[in-house]
Amino acid sequence: MRKFKIVTYGCQINVYESEKFAEFFKSSGLVEAKGIEDADIVLLNSCAVRGKSEQKLYSEVGYINKLFKKNGKPVSVVTGCVATVKEKEIRRIGQKSVALVMKGTRSLKERFDALKQFLGIEFVEQRREVQGVFAYVPIIFGCNNFCTYCIVPFTKGRERSRTKEEVLSEVRFLLDKGTKEVVLLGQNINHYGRDLRYKNGFIEILEEVNKLPGLERLRYLTPHPADFTTDDLKRMQQLNKLCPHFHLPVQSGSDRILKLMKRGYTVSQYEDLIEQVKKLFPEASITTDIIVGFPTETEKDFEDTKRLVLNVEFDKIFLAAYSPREGTVAAKMDGQIEESVKKERLNTLLQIEDEISARKNRAYIGKMTEVLVETVKENEVIGRNPQDKLVIVEGKGRRGEIVSVKVTDADKMHLRGVLRGTQEKDERSALEKTEND
Ligand code: SF4
Repeated sequence: MRKFKIVTYGCQINVYESEKFAEFFKSSGLVEAKGIEDADIVLLNSCAVRGKSEQKLYSEVGYINKLFKKNGKPVSVVTGCVATVKEKEIRRIGQKSVALVMKGTRSLKERFDALKQFLGIEFVEQRREVQGVFAYVPIIFGCNNFCTYCIVPFTKGRERSRTKEEVLSEVRFLLDKGTKEVVLLGQNINHYGRDLRYKNGFIEILEEVNKLPGLERLRYLTPHPADFTTDDLKRMQQLNKLCPHFHLPVQSGSDRILKLMKRGYTVSQYEDLIEQVKKLFPEASITTDIIVGFPTETEKDFEDTKRLVLNVEFDKIFLAAYSPREGTVAAKMDGQIEESVKKERLNTLLQIEDEISARKNRAYIGKMTEVLVETVKENEVIGRNPQDKLVIVEGKGRRGEIVSVKVTDADKMHLRGVLRGTQEKDERSALEKTEND
């Protein structure tokens, strides 16, 4: 029996697509290999957003080529963003071990057809396997924004929304199989439905999904700060399953840099949005993405970013040093910043972020929170609360169950707590002990 292995880099959309590829292979009679060394075919689902992940892909392609030369297997199939823009380089490194390069802009169906041909098999489509308590569901692929640093519009193509019916049918199927939390996905999710001429597509799909019986929690990624409206926020307030977590990628705190990035908002417009979120959702956590060292970024620009970070007090920042991506406008800009400067700025923000994250997490100590159990260990369970904080809980629970937890400790990464029942029992026995003493 032929064996496959899938290696995934990058975003949640790639994670979703890799799940689909795994189903495809299994439905076609292949079995999953333990590792690359054990496989006949390795599918590499690549990411081109940063230079680092592109390099990782090349080194995997090179490693597979070495194995292939020695053992006559495995072969690699490369898809995703790097496959869209760097086919030549992939084939140069992987030589004969590269069986297929499938552009990430092609639909899953087209890529399944190419695989069918290559494998010489008949594939009977089966519905999605469901393993997790939460599942990703893409609602829009691609992006039309062309932020000047970003390769995504080139690698994933222009915006293509799935119809409402298609999305709802997939979510219903997942809920039927026991999924509790659904994360709707899109590169710029606020644009959902524009290509299908839906009027308020994004907020309406949230409202529709929110109504589905069996759903406990609803999240979405990634919104664009320029496209959020007050009306969206007000309508979101009515959605009882929507988690109070806003991921609002700001990228820089300098108006000059935001303009060069072509982000479509100013710092004060972003701050207004944050203010509205904080007012309408006082319990919400707010996270962001920031790029340091964008071409021409001065100390003053960086100071502006620092000021924004200190003012907003994000729960978490996904920080990255600017990485030039061939083909984008920013890669050709004058004033590229030295790596040592980017590193220094990155470290400065990391330190600030660590301190703020720890402080914000510690504010949960003594409070109750609800955790959806994802992992069960012998004497603890791990999951996330509605604000998307990772919580380690002392006590027993079942996967997929939502437990009430009293937070007893916290650091910059997680919260720790005990099940409400356990906490009450401990307090009672402490009291009994004191009384007996
Ligand atoms: S919105 Fe900008 S950063 Fe986000 S995927 Fe589109 S082009 Fe890239």
